[in-house]
Amino acid sequence: MLKIAFHGAAREVTGSCHLIQTARGKVLLDCGMVQGGPERHERNREAFPFDPSELTAVVLSHAHIDHTGRLPLLLKTGYEGPIFATETTAELCRIMLADSGRIQEEDAEWKIKRLKKEGLDASWVRPLYTEEDAMEAVDRIHPLDFHREYALDGFGALTYHLAGHILGAAVVELTVGGGEKSTESRRILFSGDLGVEGARLLGPPETVDRPDYLLMESTYGDRQRVETMDRTEELLQIVEETSDRGGKVIIPSFAVGRTQEVLARLNDLVEGGRLQSVPVYVDSPMATAVTRVFAMHPEVFSEEARRLLRTGDEPLDFPGLRLITSVRDSMELNGLEGPAIIISASGMCTAGRIKHHLKHNISDHRNTILFVGYQAEHTLGRHIQSGTDPVRIFGSWFDVNAEIRTIEGFSAHADLDELLAWYDALGGVKRRTFLVHGEEEASLSLARRLRERGSEAVTVPEPHQEFVLD
Ligand code: ZN
Repeated sequence: MLKIAFHGAAREVTGSCHLIQTARGKVLLDCGMVQGGPERHERNREAFPFDPSELTAVVLSHAHIDHTGRLPLLLKTGYEGPIFATETTAELCRIMLADSGRIQEEDAEWKIKRLKKEGLDASWVRPLYTEEDAMEAVDRIHPLDFHREYALDGFGALTYHLAGHILGAAVVELTVGGGEKSTESRRILFSGDLGVEGARLLGPPETVDRPDYLLMESTYGDRQRVETMDRTEELLQIVEETSDRGGKVIIPSFAVGRTQEVLARLNDLVEGGRLQSVPVYVDSPMATAVTRVFAMHPEVFSEEARRLLRTGDEPLDFPGLRLITSVRDSMELNGLEGPAIIISASGMCTAGRIKHHLKHNISDHRNTILFVGYQAEHTLGRHIQSGTDPVRIFGSWFDVNAEIRTIEGFSAHADLDELLAWYDALGGVKRRTFLVHGEEEASLSLARRLRERGSEAVTVPEPHQEFVLD
């Protein structure tokens, strides 16, 4: 018996959660949070469509919250087994899940305050989970190495390969018992999220020879990045134009991945003498902590970044860079006169300090809001990026007078050509490909492209759809 069910990131991007079942047990691939606006967020409170106490193991692809954020809830509803992740993912989870727990608590406090102010009953409001709940999940994580095969308690075997998406991100290879009519084993490959070619810090995603089944992300399944110029040059140009106006460049950025990739480029510009006297602030305690983890793990760096390190140059440290953690220092930035660069989380402007920076800067025509990552539907980031004006921040309306720019190349996600190249490098998929982690149109479009290339067995699963595999 071999079954697979898609309980998240099916015809949408967030909430990655796939259940693999054999006669020997059940393994959950990722346990991610649904993100993108308050209504979607409420879906995280729904019960899991399986019994968590029956799971053999949880296997994580990488530390992003849309792949890990419901782990605390899994424990609260009866899961007692191990959680496997690469060593660096385990370290990042310690930072990111704790942060997620704090955000849940703050959201609940904020809601209670608002309801009380309106004279309404607030006794029913509970955080989705707390920081303490999150740390219990973190303590359950078993760190594993890349490129080594591990036995999964009678269920099968697990090997992690580099995905190049963020620090520690993995392509997951599972070997399990066969289907109904077969005793042969089957290899299931889960791409997790795939990185881009030519990233400054991380290498390109690795491939694995001809799996039986493939679960593949499709975030940019219908999009080709248009890069008219080098990413570093474009960044320099935007900073210079904004500085000439006396303005600030505000960069909403995921604390993990994008922030470090942007810093690496700024490092090149500053140390190459091409960008001077523009201070750079990273205003996110999490980005700061993650930047330090990055510096400790050169083994996952790209060739170029390792070469720099060998010459004694830290790729994420340069004159003029300030890493900010305290709330006081963060608030002081509100009164800062430009030019300056402020990088802050969250990347899609849904939470965190970036909302304060937008509030204080979005209506000033001298400033630039620079997007460097994917903006999901229904998020503040997507609204701003697509030209909505005015926008609502913390319940008030703000005119969008700042210049709005996007640099595509900093995305941590492979684009269409890169997805196809990775797929081709597998040398084919023996039985069936399932496309996940993409908005419906993107997944369907990639499915068409794969079929055009002669891959007939391609499926875009519906949410919660289950397949019996052979
Ligand atoms: Zn990711």
